[in-house]
Amino acid sequence: MKVAIGQDSHRFDFENAEKSLVLGGVLFEEHPPLSGNSDADVVLHAITNAISGITCINILGEKADALCASGITDSKIYLQEALKYLKEEIIHVSVSIECKTPKIAPKISDMRKSIAAILKLMTAI
Ligand SMILES: [Zn+2]
Repeated sequence: MKVAIGQDSHRFDFENAEKSLVLGGVLFEEHPPLSGNSDADVVLHAITNAISGITCINILGEKADALCASGITDSKIYLQEALKYLKEEIIHVSVSIECKTPKIAPKISDMRKSIAAILKLMTAI
């Protein structure tokens, strides 16, 4: 069994009115996005980084930048790219988010389902 911890952080982009916040593949409408070339989904980036910690294949960086340059800004694609190199089965994922806003709790169920769908995990609840 292998265990990994992934981390990521982004600033909010309060000037950007064209995008909204995306966390764990879930849109937080009417909340300013995080800053980044992609959708800046910091949750999926952290999970991607955790998987890279196991596979030793760095996705966020050159590979994601190339995908982003080709117009692919959905972080689900970056996570799916990381999963291509993972031989082990994922049995559990835990995510911790530090932010003052928005309120995360109303979206936790949607985020769990979204993350579980991307990772092909059964959700406990
Ligand atoms: Zn990131």
